[in-house]
Amino acid sequence: MEEPSEDALAEARRYLADIMVFEGAEFIVPSEVAEDQAAVPEHSESSTDKGEIALGMPDPSGQIGPAAIAPDEATDAGSADPVVDESAVRVTGSGTNPAVGAALAVGENTADLEAFRQQICECTSCPLGLARKNFVFGAGNPGAGIMFVGEAPGADEDREGEPFVGAAGQLLNKIIAAMNLRREEVYICNILKCRPPNNRDPQPDEIEQCEPYLKRQIEIIEPKVICTLGRFAAQTLLRSSESMGRMRGQTHSYEGIPLVATYHPAALLRNAQWKRPTWEDIKRVRQIYDGVEL
Ligand code: SF4
Repeated sequence: MEEPSEDALAEARRYLADIMVFEGAEFIVPSEVAEDQAAVPEHSESSTDKGEIALGMPDPSGQIGPAAIAPDEATDAGSADPVVDESAVRVTGSGTNPAVGAALAVGENTADLEAFRQQICECTSCPLGLARKNFVFGAGNPGAGIMFVGEAPGADEDREGEPFVGAAGQLLNKIIAAMNLRREEVYICNILKCRPPNNRDPQPDEIEQCEPYLKRQIEIIEPKVICTLGRFAAQTLLRSSESMGRMRGQTHSYEGIPLVATYHPAALLRNAQWKRPTWEDIKRVRQIYDGVEL
């Protein structure tokens, strides 16, 4: 019998790793993606917390996330096929990943983070502090290995005092579940801690006042990897004016921490064709978290 080629074996390993590591069942690429192989536009990506689509629509092929997702050449020029560390894959796939256990071990970060929250929760350094219903500090595991950073609270977040609780938050929960993690295992926050009126873009002076708070959160949590959600968060942390299409699909660095930029879940609610490239970015995040060589 003819031996399978190296390429075929590598492809099979990647396929298996995707399934074992990410279990993409919770973040299924909708049918629009399979039908629309056209280039993904690089502009008009927005991160406001609006828009609705049915979440978790089944892929027509019947395949779940990774298997249904082919490389997106239009927006993924910088991403290479990941090299899969099989030992990392096995540990994660078994559901007994020691990294997850370590991340759940809440230590002194909890006290430091809570002390910092109390220190700044009455902030009125910019006008947003006077208009907010609630200060939205962040949520999740203070010892998280993965930190998601969005733009700013929306109406739901302002009302609840917690980041990503609206429709976009539900989709983010699905993305996290597709990474084989729980929301409580990661940390989620925004560049701004108070809601801009009508979900408008943050102003430069608001960022200037608020970004040091995020920086301190990152210092306390010391994540293995940061995943920015939306063009605005990526541009802010990377000091870049590039489009999302150019920033995503690669690993950046923020203060020495690997940073992966991807689309905001709210943008995915309106642009289902961005789910596929987002999945590629999310796999990258998970692989950095697992210490898999990229
Ligand atoms: S957005 Fe940031 S800087 Fe402005 S008031 Fe709120 S916490 Fe303070």
